[in-house]
Amino acid sequence: MDRTRFFDTHCHYAEAAFDEDIDLCIQRARLAGFAGALVCTCSGLEYEKAGLLAKRLGLSFAAGAFDFSQSPRIDPEKMLAELDAAVVAFAPCAVGEIGIDGKHLKTESESAVRKLFEGALGIALEHNLPVSIHARGAMHVVAPMLKSLACSSLRGVIHAFNGSLEEAALFTRLGFKLGFGSILTNPAAKRTARVFTALKRGSWVLETDAPYMAPYSKRHSPTARSEPLDLTDTLKAAAALRGISIECAAQESCRAALEVFPGLEANNARPS
Ligand SMILES: [Zn+2]
Repeated sequence: MDRTRFFDTHCHYAEAAFDEDIDLCIQRARLAGFAGALVCTCSGLEYEKAGLLAKRLGLSFAAGAFDFSQSPRIDPEKMLAELDAAVVAFAPCAVGEIGIDGKHLKTESESAVRKLFEGALGIALEHNLPVSIHARGAMHVVAPMLKSLACSSLRGVIHAFNGSLEEAALFTRLGFKLGFGSILTNPAAKRTARVFTALKRGSWVLETDAPYMAPYSKRHSPTARSEPLDLTDTLKAAAALRGISIECAAQESCRAALEVFPGLEANNARPS
């Protein structure tokens, strides 16, 4: 894959799972065409570590506010104040990860989660930053929230997209790209494959969500993590599903990634 170049548009490389060997992981991936990544975070506990890591490795940093736990006990005001301060202190190139997960709907956490998401969208808009949104199981809730901002300049990616073709069309009409990861390598994920195959050109980007969402090839090791190099398998699967060459798939996803996250270009030099 000499001439290919690809970005990881959503990852968590600052998580403890990469403490020992992130430099090696990036080095391995760069040899295969990895051009950069958006290192996402979920709270003020991560901003400094992720910001410094991104800077040291020539990657891009996103400041987020999100809690994936089953029953998040969050203080939206405190998290939003920290996010706002991080946008000034670390100059992130995006706001993410932010959003709502389906498991938070109709629970006592829902109103706090919604408040946090709305506040984070407001901060992104105020600073004119693109967003990386988690909407798994909550596409039907997130879509109207974004629709109400349709006249705004808000842009971003619906990360780990697993919605329907109608939802895909709605989000892309609103100016969002759709993020796909290792699910494309799973032959059992037929609906996602069908949706991905039918997407308009330029509307999708690639991601790992590393260390989460380990690829299908690692399915026999339950504790396996995903890592930057796994993008090569996702890229191959994406090309096969769309019936295009790997080079074309890489180019298409790269262009879309840079369109939605222009900061990626500035922070990621091609390895010489
Ligand atoms: Zn994530």
